Amino acid sequence: MVYLDHAATTPLDGRVLQAMTPYLTEIYGNASSQHSYGRRAANAVTVARDKIAGIMGVSPSELYFTSGGTEAGNTALKGVCAALRGRGRHVVLSALEHPALISAANDMREYGYEITLVNPAENGIVSAESVAGAIRPDTVFVGVMAANNEVGTIQPIKDIYAACRERKVFLYCDCVQTAGVLPFGLFPADGIGFSAHKFYGPKGFGGLYVRGNCRFERLISGGEQERGLRGGTTYVAGAVGCARALEIAEREAQSNNENIRRLRDLFVKRVLAEIEGTRVNGDLQNRLPSNANISFDGCDGEQILFALDLAGIAVSTGSACSSGAVTPSRVLTSMGLDEGRVKSAVRFTFGRGNTLQEVDYVTVKIKEAVERIRAQKY
Ligand code: PLP
Repeated sequence: MVYLDHAATTPLDGRVLQAMTPYLTEIYGNASSQHSYGRRAANAVTVARDKIAGIMGVSPSELYFTSGGTEAGNTALKGVCAALRGRGRHVVLSALEHPALISAANDMREYGYEITLVNPAENGIVSAESVAGAIRPDTVFVGVMAANNEVGTIQPIKDIYAACRERKVFLYCDCVQTAGVLPFGLFPADGIGFSAHKFYGPKGFGGLYVRGNCRFERLISGGEQERGLRGGTTYVAGAVGCARALEIAEREAQSNNENIRRLRDLFVKRVLAEIEGTRVNGDLQNRLPSNANISFDGCDGEQILFALDLAGIAVSTGSACSSGAVTPSRVLTSMGLDEGRVKSAVRFTFGRGNTLQEVDYVTVKIKEAVERIRAQKY
């Protein structure tokens, strides 16, 4: 089996599982309980929060634990809109954003909010000028991700944040794809979201940073967890696992990124050289080391995905499948790519466990699949 879908999720690191296990077995107290079981659990959550905040370079009091990236994005967008409803009802998002943010914004239309989507250039990068140009006096929230999950392109967040600060508008940066890969310091913002399962941590745990002096309202009402801003029993093992996973990922980022980049570059070089009619989508320089998004002329991405699945290779396409109908990738379409290129795109995302032998095997299998699909068509 060859797993090339690390942008979707990663396996749990054994060291992370080891750190989590005591909090799933012996130290099972509810972190809100007042007895010693609860205090031990609460202490582990405090240590985890301090560790994550330290890595992010923020204060622990600015960090709220969530169930992952989707909840972080929803809380940021809906929470800030609710807190600032007296100021305006306009939201600016890059067209590259994950459905977590796009759907959350669409929900707000019902309450009279207008949404402006800013398209990227053909290279999958949104310019600070175009984001600045979309901001209006009634804009209350801007969302631009650090790196895109389909094409891996890295966005100029420092410039975008400068533009937002100048206009006194809240910037949310979805760092789900960069956390543990690139330093948080590269992506300054008023709100930042991350998700543990993208950096070899547990699924169902993540966090939202909100700068101390920015206001937001809670999405989930309940107990007084997360300083009253996110109700629900704290997932103690998740917090411990997330902190451990982020610590490992940050420490090993340089060597992991180098290895992953080398495999990805070799893979891209071989595919482009050995298979005619192939093109890489998205900027070649400003992109995550793990991502290769390639279009194969005359093919459907899904056909390639299924052929590779039969060969034990896991990849993905950017298209969404609902009720049997395939909707082309919104991200690739927003980059202005033609229909054929959008339909034939496949995303390969490399990770820590991949090898050179796997690059050989996958290249051969893609070549066979593409030749077969093209032969059927003509
Ligand atoms: N944002 C981005 C860029 C993502 O890639 C994902 C996951 O695919 C999410 C948000 C959602 O994160 P989660 O799965 O933790 O809800």
